[in-house]
Amino acid sequence: MNIVSGRLDRGYALFQEEYERKALEVLRSGWYVLGGEVERFEQEFAAHIGAKFCVGLASGLDALYLGMRALGIQSGDEVIVQANTYIASVMGITMNGATPVFVEPNQYYNIDVTKIEEKITPRTRAILVVHLYGQACKMDDVMALARTYGLFVIEDCAQSHDACYGGQKTGTFGDVGCFSFYPTKNLGAFGDGGAIVTNSSELEGKIRCLRNYGSRVKYQFDVVGVNSRLDELQAGLLRVKLAHLEQLTAARRRLAQSYNEYITSPRIEKPAVQPGSTSVWHQYVVRCDERGRLIAHLKERGISTMIHYPVPPHLSEAYRDLQLPKGSLPVTEAYADSVLSLPLYDGMTEDEVRYTAEAVNQF
Ligand SMILES: *Cc1c(COP(=O)(O)O)cnc(C)c1O
Repeated sequence: MNIVSGRLDRGYALFQEEYERKALEVLRSGWYVLGGEVERFEQEFAAHIGAKFCVGLASGLDALYLGMRALGIQSGDEVIVQANTYIASVMGITMNGATPVFVEPNQYYNIDVTKIEEKITPRTRAILVVHLYGQACKMDDVMALARTYGLFVIEDCAQSHDACYGGQKTGTFGDVGCFSFYPTKNLGAFGDGGAIVTNSSELEGKIRCLRNYGSRVKYQFDVVGVNSRLDELQAGLLRVKLAHLEQLTAARRRLAQSYNEYITSPRIEKPAVQPGSTSVWHQYVVRCDERGRLIAHLKERGISTMIHYPVPPHLSEAYRDLQLPKGSLPVTEAYADSVLSLPLYDGMTEDEVRYTAEAVNQF
């Protein structure tokens, strides 16, 4: 059997006719940027997540950058963020001139809330949580800390569409919820896309203005903005997928449950879900001390895997200036050296999960 991590063709095939009908409809409409499809998607996504407003953007990175910019985060400010994240979370901070302050993750791969307080200084403006691998962070504790210290909360929901904490969806706890619709995400488009959800009409207005060259009224420019617009084709295709998202998430849950059942090897650390949280299983991440050999073992059996992520942001060349040497974030670094994402994609079959789990057990 050949099992390819991150494949997208299966997910496309699930609703191929609907996607193709919508694509033709948009192509024939003669309107391609910021139109009716984007407006309808924004309304539908806000309602789906349970937020008052949604602003469509060009990417998840732009959502993080513009979300923090709209909050006034700037040079001299510090933003607390978990250290074991995709580098875009950190870039959203530094693009605003602010300084990332890293906090180690807990056993669920999310920010260890008990380690936040010691990192708060007079310069701290915000906490950026990342609902990594699709599991919601412990948001009651995060929000309580933020209230105590008067901090903004930004949620990186790039991997957590529809994940809940205490029955409430990620993206609705903080000041802004930042989503990515990159093709591999749980709600993935067929190109780049992103969005911010918020309950603040003031933030919504600022972000709408920033995404379109800083303009609220045509040819009148209030601030120096950017061009970060969701296009009609992506918005239309996202509307098709959004209507099926609950079904897609349920299928992911079943596949993850099967992995949980079939993987029995004591050499493999399976993912845990924390009480109060749900996971939408953006990734199914295991840990193994001999990861290199496990990868090779699976590859010999036709199974490709991925690592999310092999180099934590503080050790990447891009953030050499932060001067955080190896050893400064030991939990994060140990995870980076041992995590492995097993294949899990829309349209994956139960047989494929069983074959993969058996191969893992044979290791
Ligand atoms: C994918 C991702 C992003 C960035 O989204 P893009 O749309 O690729 O810019 C940000 N944060 C996390 C955690 C991600 O997984």
